[in-house]
Amino acid sequence: MKDNFQDIQLSAHFRLSEFLNLQKHPGNIPTVRDVDNLTYGCLNLLEPARQHVGPIIVNSGFRNAEVNRMVGGVRGSQHLTGQAADIRTSDPRQFHLLIAFLRMNPHTDQLLTGPGWLHISWNPYAQPRHDIRIGYYQ
Ligand SMILES: [Zn+2]
Repeated sequence: MKDNFQDIQLSAHFRLSEFLNLQKHPGNIPTVRDVDNLTYGCLNLLEPARQHVGPIIVNSGFRNAEVNRMVGGVRGSQHLTGQAADIRTSDPRQFHLLIAFLRMNPHTDQLLTGPGWLHISWNPYAQPRHDIRIGYYQ
């Protein structure tokens, strides 16, 4: 990909750089397919959620195998293919609305919530599992 590929706008309020954490992990470069998957998540989940609850901060999005190991991600994590993000609301008071919105969204594959942040995943290639676990991370 080109040098400035991380500036790609995936949806109105999300750009690719927010999902890569390149300052910390310069080698965390996605494939075109990974970017397609991230775009799917933005268009169907994150952008609609953003319109509902206001600004959303991505703590972790795409992870290559090395980054996934470094952060202690599970094997086969959906982060490896751009099909998941760990996010929080910029305004903590909106967090419960984010959960409520994502648990109702038919595109949600897995929703695992923690204190003030949550893991949301999507799957462009299969029927979403709609596996919702509130308070999964303590
Ligand atoms: Zn996650």
